[in-house]
Amino acid sequence: MSPPCSRCTSQRVINLETARKLGTTAGALVGSLRGVYASLYSPGLLLVASTQFPLSRIATAVVAATTGGIAGATAGNQMIQSLFPPGGGTPWLCLGCGHAFRVIN
Ligand SMILES: [Zn+2]
Repeated sequence: MSPPCSRCTSQRVINLETARKLGTTAGALVGSLRGVYASLYSPGLLLVASTQFPLSRIATAVVAATTGGIAGATAGNQMIQSLFPPGGGTPWLCLGCGHAFRVIN
């Protein structure tokens, strides 16, 4: 059960630990897609790829997706991490007023 916000007593709070996991996954996904898109559709690469076997393009896309995924996951993780209040206990973020607080179990 989620605790009420310590500032505005709203019940609309989310667990920041869960949000961080979701943010990491979403960031990795977005980063991967961006990497694939950039490597497959960048004009410079298309000129080179047109004279080569397309597999090289796919390989480039896979590498770009992996790199983008790691970078995206790190960015997503860091973004959520910056919301974490200092201290111990379970971190919560109020959706009503944006207040981040911890509840010691
Ligand atoms: Zn609040």
